[in-house]
Amino acid sequence: MEKYDLMSDKAQNFINPQEVSFTLNYAKRYCNDPFMVNFILDKARAQKGLTHTEAAVLLLCEDESINAQIFRLAEQIKEAYYGNRIVLFAPLYLSNYCVNGCTYCPYHSQNQHIFRKKMTQEEIKAEVIALQDMGHKRLALEAGEHPIMNPLEYILESIDTIYGIKHKSGAIRRVNVNIAATTIEEYRRLHAAKIGTYILFQETYNKEDYERLHPRGPKANYEWHTEAMDRAMRAGIEDVGLGVLFGLHNYASEFVSLLMHAEHLEALYGAGPHTISVPRLCPADGIKTADFENALPDEIFLKIIALLRISVPYTGLIISTREGQRIREKALRLGISQISGGSKTSVGGYATHEAEPDSSQFEISDNRSLDDVVRWLMEQNHVPSFCTSCYGNGRVGEDFMAICKKQQIHNFCTPNALLTLKEYLDNYATPETKAIGERLLKAEKAKLSTNQKRVLQKRMNLLKEGKVVFF
Ligand code: SAM
Repeated sequence: MEKYDLMSDKAQNFINPQEVSFTLNYAKRYCNDPFMVNFILDKARAQKGLTHTEAAVLLLCEDESINAQIFRLAEQIKEAYYGNRIVLFAPLYLSNYCVNGCTYCPYHSQNQHIFRKKMTQEEIKAEVIALQDMGHKRLALEAGEHPIMNPLEYILESIDTIYGIKHKSGAIRRVNVNIAATTIEEYRRLHAAKIGTYILFQETYNKEDYERLHPRGPKANYEWHTEAMDRAMRAGIEDVGLGVLFGLHNYASEFVSLLMHAEHLEALYGAGPHTISVPRLCPADGIKTADFENALPDEIFLKIIALLRISVPYTGLIISTREGQRIREKALRLGISQISGGSKTSVGGYATHEAEPDSSQFEISDNRSLDDVVRWLMEQNHVPSFCTSCYGNGRVGEDFMAICKKQQIHNFCTPNALLTLKEYLDNYATPETKAIGERLLKAEKAKLSTNQKRVLQKRMNLLKEGKVVFF
């Protein structure tokens, strides 16, 4: 039997099934013990994170007053580490050809009726121009796994195309990449192509369910998939993004495993995950969520977000348009730091190929435009940010974590967020959004230190003259 070892790079050691069940049994035993729960909450108040075992105890705790304290603390930690900034991005689907058999995803190879499409570089250009015209600066590239249709060369060429497009005042400044697990050599090439974060959702950490849900293709190999982040980090990619697809397996075990994965990366490579995403299973072509037994109710979903914020305070938390406005509104307060807006999950969806049949991956619940999302954020006093400057300035991996852990990322991010918001308002916003934005900018500027105000004003003047340099 394999042993738990967070320093090992073997999936069976760092996501050790015995450790997961031991943790859940321990959590069941102590989750309603007031002394234990308060002890953990006190530790959490130091805002330095919790271990997977401590977090599991809080997750299973059913005491309403403790849960209220967990939510309050998550809000405080969010404020301390990230302030009121929310980073915006959009997914860009390059190709939905796929050789895998993921039973929850309509791109699986045996789906004969979904419209398959792989964009040409010209089509990618049209998509990126459409995204730039919305005001986006940061993309998450998505593609099915298909060695012939979507080889790494295609992904690399597409990244190059995307970074190269400068349309009007638009530019994509950070390309995050969500493609299938691959070799160290291919991760090296992605790193050399200047990707931002390498994102790979684990789907489920439970090996048995993983193998059942992935019956075919390279993704069927649990170890290959689970050890992918180790290969990516060894290849030099410093920012990696984790996530599980909630709904495939029981949430408590997924939550514990996700934190074990984060602890493993931090212990071995000096930097935990740059981001954690919290996707929940959505209906899609031929996919009914009712066919899956582990649907995650809203209240527990929100508690998981709050506990992730408390457990890994320095990790960005991402929520996509899989969730609707109401849940996103609550999740933002509890710790989410990045959201997508104006998203399409079909291949070629932004440049309106209306005549084409649907190629989308799943149904989204937030169909608002980016402008609507930006205005909605500001109406709740969040500062929408299009900033990519940490990445542009090399504040990645361990360096980013070191600044973030000292709660000093504010010093960099707040002025940069305001500058990129101003850029958005001047170039892309509707008059109504602009009016709200200008009021918010004024209020936020007033909160800055004298030095920050001076630097920001100088950069805003350069922005007006078209001379500001963004990273
Ligand atoms: N091919 C890459 C891979 O295998 O990791 C990228 C996958 S896909 C483009 C991005 C993610 O969408 C998947 O990792 C999965 O978690 C999620 N996804 C797939 N089907 C979904 C569904 N029905 N509802 C919500 N998310 C889904």
